[in-house]
Amino acid sequence: MNTKKQKKKLSLTVMILTALFLGILSGLLLQGHPKIAENYIQPFGTIFLNLIKMIVVPVVLFSIIQGVVSLQDIKKVGSIGGKTICFYIVTTAFAVTFGLLFANVLNVGGGYVMNSSSLEAYEGATKAPSLIETLVNIFPSNAVEPLVSATMLQVIVIALFFGFGIIIAGDKGKPAADLVESLSEVCINIMGLIINLSPIGVFALITPVVAANGPSVLLPLLKLIGVAYLASIVHMVVVYSSAVKGFSGISPLRFFKEQSPAMLFAFSSASSVGTLPFNYECTEKLGARKEIASFVLPLGATINMDGTAIYQGVSAIFIAQIFGVHLTLTQQLMVILTTTLASIGTAGVPGSGVIMLAMVLQSVGLPLEGIALVAGVDRILDMARTTVNITGDAACTICVDAMEKRKEARRKLNISNNL
Ligand code: ASP
Repeated sequence: MNTKKQKKKLSLTVMILTALFLGILSGLLLQGHPKIAENYIQPFGTIFLNLIKMIVVPVVLFSIIQGVVSLQDIKKVGSIGGKTICFYIVTTAFAVTFGLLFANVLNVGGGYVMNSSSLEAYEGATKAPSLIETLVNIFPSNAVEPLVSATMLQVIVIALFFGFGIIIAGDKGKPAADLVESLSEVCINIMGLIINLSPIGVFALITPVVAANGPSVLLPLLKLIGVAYLASIVHMVVVYSSAVKGFSGISPLRFFKEQSPAMLFAFSSASSVGTLPFNYECTEKLGARKEIASFVLPLGATINMDGTAIYQGVSAIFIAQIFGVHLTLTQQLMVILTTTLASIGTAGVPGSGVIMLAMVLQSVGLPLEGIALVAGVDRILDMARTTVNITGDAACTICVDAMEKRKEARRKLNISNNL
C-alpha cells in the first residue's frame, strides 16, 4: 500500500515537471499570439486555481483547530508560535541581506537603458498599509467574513480561538472536536482530488506566462531577473539547507527532493496560499507532524516571504542605480528593516509583493515610478519569490517540529529521572 502510494506521488512530481516543460514549450510556440494562450489555455489554469482557493480556507480552518486541540495545551501553541515567528523573522532578514549583497556586488542596474515610455505611473502601487493597520487587521470583527474573503491571517486567528475554546470547554467541547476532526479529514481528501489535477493546472498556468513574456519584455531586464534568481537559489541552498540539517538532521538533498512538487507548483502558480495543500503533503512526507504543519504552514503562507524580501532588496538597489541614487549603509539597513516588516503584510497571492515594494522604496526616498520599470516582468520574478516563500515555510515547519520533538523527549527523560 505504502509503495503504491509512494509510486503515485513520485509519478505526480514527474507529471508536474513534464507539464511545466510542455507549458514552457507551448508558450514559446505561441509567442506573438499571446491572446490564443490567454483565451483558450489560461481558463483551465484559472479553474484549477479556483478549486484550490475553494478548498484552502476550510482546510486551514479545520486543520488549525484540530492541530490546536490535539496539542491540548494553550501554552504549547504559544511556544510553537514564538519559535515560528522568530524563525520567519531571522530568515527574512537573511533573505533581504542576500538580495542587497548580490544586487550591489553584481551591479544589478548596470547596462540598463531607460526609455521614457517605461516610466508610466504604476497604478495601485502607492497604497501600502501601515504597520499598525496590518496589526489591527489581524483581528477580525466578524467570524464569517474572513472565511468568505479568504483573509488568511484572520482565518488563523479565528481557528486559534475556536481551538482554545474547545480545549477549555473540556468534555462539553468533545463533540465539536470530533466534528472538526471529521471535517478536516474530508477537506484533506477533497484537496487530494484537486492535487491530482495539478499537471493540467501547471500546464495551463505557465503557457500564457511564457507566451506573453517575449524577448522584448525580458531582455532589458535580464540582469535584474538573473540577480533575483541567483540570490533566491543561494538563499534556499545556504539558509534552508543549514537550518534543516542543523535542527532536524534531514539532508538538504532529501529536503529539496521531497519539496519539489510544492516548489514546482509555487513556481507555476505564484501563490503561496494556493501551494498550501502541496506543502502539507510534502512536509508530512519529511516527517513533520500534522499538528505542527497545520499551524506553521498557513502562518508562513501569510507572513513569511523570504523570496519577496529578496526581490524587494534587489529591486530597491536596481531602482536606486537606474535613478542614480546612492544608498548609504544606513539606508540599506533601513531597507532590511522595512522589507522584513513589509513581507509580513504581503498576502500570499500573485503580484502582492510589488505593492509592498512601494513601502520599501518610500522608506529610503526612492522614486515610486521605479516600480513601473520592474512591473513588466513581475510574474517572472513572482514565480521565483513564491518558490522561495513556500520553501521557507516548509523549512520552518521541519525545524520547529524537530525542536518540539527534542523538547518533548527532554521532558519525558526528566519525568522518568524523577520517578
Ligand atoms: N506571490 C507571492 C506569494 O504568493 C507574494 C508576492 O507577490 O511576493 O507568495
